[in-house]
Amino acid sequence: MTSDLAPRRIIVLGATGSIGTNTLAVIRHLNVLAANAGRAPRFVVVGLAGNSNVRLLKEQASEFNVSHLAIADERAASAVGTTSRVGVTFVGADAARKLVDEVARPGDLVMGAMVGAAGIPATLAAIERGCDIALANKETLVAAGDVVMAAVARKGVRLLPVDSEHNAIFQCLEAGRSAAEVRRIVITASGGPFRSWPIERIASATVREALHHPTWSMGPKVTIDSASMMNKALEIIEAHWLFGLSADQIDAIVHPQSIVHSFVEFVDGSVIAQLSPPDMRTPIQHALTWPERTEGCSHRTDWSTFGALQFEPVDHARFPAIGLAWRVVRAGGTSGATFNAANEIAVEAFLRGEMHFPRIAELVTDALDALPSRPVKSLIDVLAADEEARCWARERTRAVSV
Ligand code: NAD
Ligand code: MG
Repeated sequence: MTSDLAPRRIIVLGATGSIGTNTLAVIRHLNVLAANAGRAPRFVVVGLAGNSNVRLLKEQASEFNVSHLAIADERAASAVGTTSRVGVTFVGADAARKLVDEVARPGDLVMGAMVGAAGIPATLAAIERGCDIALANKETLVAAGDVVMAAVARKGVRLLPVDSEHNAIFQCLEAGRSAAEVRRIVITASGGPFRSWPIERIASATVREALHHPTWSMGPKVTIDSASMMNKALEIIEAHWLFGLSADQIDAIVHPQSIVHSFVEFVDGSVIAQLSPPDMRTPIQHALTWPERTEGCSHRTDWSTFGALQFEPVDHARFPAIGLAWRVVRAGGTSGATFNAANEIAVEAFLRGEMHFPRIAELVTDALDALPSRPVKSLIDVLAADEEARCWARERTRAVSV
């Protein structure tokens, strides 16, 4: 459909991370396919944003001929200097949003692959400029779902889920299915590295053990979230916003092979699932090329080698974090921002070796208990709750440092 059209303009926020580099791999693949067919490139990359890996960002800029960059970390930006042919570089905490304001045009695609609530301002700026969003950065929806979904509706842009579970649900819901026909969705979870560990062993888990994910290769924050199953809690809240489902309509189940990415159960009893090997290039490409499907670049599935697919219930005693999701969905308001910010602070403290693993879920629970939810009228309410929860959690983190 789009093959004979001009290339689509894309901005990649979080370009140097796991999702960002996979996004550029998919773009490289799609452009090679187009060239082999004698067509114009599928995508032209018009902006890249990253935090501190300036060397990689500049390599990416050079390969994809990108003139506009954003670098959040000022020290990293100055250390590397201006040795490349890059035209404009925005630097500082607000750099990604400035890049979007400068470069984005209506109809562009923006890949939201930054980590954490830091992605909120640039994502919202892109929506306001009329861009479609391919969203991996789940924390943006968890913290600011009210504001983001209202902006998406007001601007009439597309929000395409990249998170593998949500991309799966999106695919299962295609063909014009209405929300009224959905009984519930079931989000699958790998169970992470501690799936079969006894609770006493999880209590003394090290950073290295938590970073060793059995099926997915990802950035450090989401890998720790997977180990605590906080990732599944974030994803339940993300699904609530993306698909307009109530807390009772969202369930989770452990599926260690990460082949079935989620199910949708319809009111007539039919269940539709999406399956593919655990490779983020598949959902990324689906979001980039939607509503078309194009030859993919990940390995094909040899179903004869799989044997049985396993499913087991979530053990809430060993993984208390996941239960917080339903509480946040029901509470609404600023509880998502509080929940997310406390978790970001807890994960940073754990990664620095300043906190025991089970304390992550405890700290987030304590934050929800201590900081009551307030209504969200605008982004200001979200950012205030985010800041308040960060300060609160930092204080508590210092108090219990190990
Ligand atoms: P990552 O740590 O590998 O990459 C994060 C990226 O964000 C890096 O490019 C970093 O430089 C950039 N970044 C961080 N702060 C920034 C700032 N202030 N300004 C500009 N750039 C900034 O993380 P990831 O694993 O790629 O995950 C990215 C997001 O996608 C997370 O929200 C994660 O939960 C989600 N996600 C990841 C995966 C995965 O397989 N990695 C799967 C599903 C969802
Ligand atoms: Mg996921």
